[in-house]
Amino acid sequence: MPKSGSPVSDGRPSLAEAALFGCCPRCGERTLFAGVVAVPDRCRNCGLDFAAAQAGGRLPLLLTVIVAVVLIVLALWLDEAVRPPLWLHAIIWLPLTIGGVLAAIRCSRAATLMRRLARSETEA
Ligand SMILES: [Zn+2]
Repeated sequence: MPKSGSPVSDGRPSLAEAALFGCCPRCGERTLFAGVVAVPDRCRNCGLDFAAAQAGGRLPLLLTVIVAVVLIVLALWLDEAVRPPLWLHAIIWLPLTIGGVLAAIRCSRAATLMRRLARSETEA
C-alpha cells in the first residue's frame, strides 16, 4: 500500500519519517541520527554520505526562527488570555522551546539530505 502524501513509493521515508525516526533518505534504515541531532558521516547500511546534513546552511536557521516566532506568539496569547504565574510559563515554554528547536534541526537536516539525494539522482 503506498504511503499517503509521499510521491515516492519505493520504500523511501517521507520527511516526517526521516526527521522523527532518523530514517536514511535512500535505504530507510534508522541510521540518520547518531544522537538527538548528531548526524554520522555516512549511512551504516547503504553508505550514503551524510556530510551535507552537517554543513548547516540557512534552512536550520530559518526553521528555528519560525519555531521561535510561533512560540513567542503562543506565549503572548496565553499570557494575555489566562495570566498564568511565571513558573507556569517556564514549565510550559522551556520544554516546548527545546523540543521545537531540536525538531526543527532534525527536519532541516533530513530535508537537506533528501534534497541532495534527489538532486544527485536527477543528475546521474
Ligand atoms: Zn542508508
